[in-house]
Amino acid sequence: MEKVEKHLFTIRCNRCGERYTLKGRIKKGKVETGLKRCLCDNENDFEIHRKEP
Ligand SMILES: [Zn+2]
Repeated sequence: MEKVEKHLFTIRCNRCGERYTLKGRIKKGKVETGLKRCLCDNENDFEIHRKEP
C-alpha cells in the first residue's frame, strides 16, 4: 500500500490572485488537490503552499 499524506494547502492563482484553501495530498512528491482551474481560466499557473498545522 502506498502511503498517502493528507494536508491542507493554500493555493494562490498567479494570474488573478484568487486564493483557495483546499485539502489535498502528496503523491509521488506532487501535490494533488481537487482544484482544476481558477475563476479566470488559469489551469496551471498556481503557487501552492502547504498549510502548517
Ligand atoms: Zn485566477
